[in-house]
Amino acid sequence: MFRVQTQRRYQMSTVYLCAINNVLSGACNEDCAFCTQSIKHHADIERHNYKQIEQIVSEAKVAKSFGAFGYCLVTSGKGLDDKKTEFIAKVARAIKQDISDIHLIGCNGIADQDQLRYLKKNGIDSYNHNLETSPWYYEKICTTHSWDERYQTCENVKLAGLALCSGGIFGMEEDAEDRDELIRAIASLEPNSVPINFFISNKALPIKSSNLAQDEALSIIKETRKTLGKESIIMIAGGRELMFGGNEREMFGAGANAIVIGDYLTTKGEDALKDIQMIKDLGFKIGIKC
Ligand code: SF4
Repeated sequence: MFRVQTQRRYQMSTVYLCAINNVLSGACNEDCAFCTQSIKHHADIERHNYKQIEQIVSEAKVAKSFGAFGYCLVTSGKGLDDKKTEFIAKVARAIKQDISDIHLIGCNGIADQDQLRYLKKNGIDSYNHNLETSPWYYEKICTTHSWDERYQTCENVKLAGLALCSGGIFGMEEDAEDRDELIRAIASLEPNSVPINFFISNKALPIKSSNLAQDEALSIIKETRKTLGKESIIMIAGGRELMFGGNEREMFGAGANAIVIGDYLTTKGEDALKDIQMIKDLGFKIGIKC
C-alpha cells in the first residue's frame, strides 16, 4: 500500500501500519455477498453520508500519532462518480495540507484512468481495489459488477501512475483452487501491497460462516509471500483479530509485514495501542516510512 513504483526492499523485521476511514458508509446498491454495506442484505450497521472534512482530518492526525504511515479513505458504492471523486480530492488536499508525510490511499471502487489521475493530482498516493476471489468463484459472491471490471480498475490504477494495493477475502466458502488462483491473479498485477482479509460472518449475509482454519490462513499468507516476493507489503486486514488474536507471531512469521490498526469499515478492530505493544513485544519495529 505504501510503495510508489520503486524497487525498495522492505525490512521483514519491520511492521507497517495502515488505518482506514469509512468516509461514506452503507447504502450500496451492489450485492457483494460478503459486505454488510449492501442494501440487499439489510445488515444492522451504522450508515452515514459523507463525513465532515474537518472530522476526517482530525481522525487522520490521530492515526498518524499512532504511527500509521498509510491512511485509507474508503467510500461505499460501486465506484467513483463526479461527486465522490471531487470529495476524495478535497479530503486529500485538506489532509496533506496538515500532515505532509502521510501516504494517502483511495478506496472508492471501480474507477477509470481520468478519475484516478485527478485523485493523484490532488494528493492520493495509492489506490486500493481488491479482486476479492478467483474469477470463476466471483459470480457466486457478486452479480452486479464483474471481476473483469475489478481487474481493469487495478490496471487503470497503474496506468494513472498510482501505487496499487490489491488483495482479497478468504474464507467465503471458496475452495483451495480459488485461493491459489486469486493469489496468482493478484501477483499478475504486480501490486505494491496486498491486503489479505478473512471473512467476518454476519447473520444478515448470504455466506453464513468462514470456511477457513488458522493453519489454512497461515498457508495463504506463506503462499502470497512466496508468489509476490520480498518486495511487497503483505497486510493482514479485516478478520485478523478473529483469526490470529494472540498468535500474531505465526502470522508475521508466515510473511505478513503490515496490519490495519483501529476499526474496520463496519466492525470494531483491536485497540491501536494494544496492537502497537503487541508488535514491540514480538521484537518488530514500526515502519514509519517505506
Ligand atoms: S460494491 Fe463495495 S460497498 Fe458495495 S456491496 Fe460491494 S463491497 Fe460493499
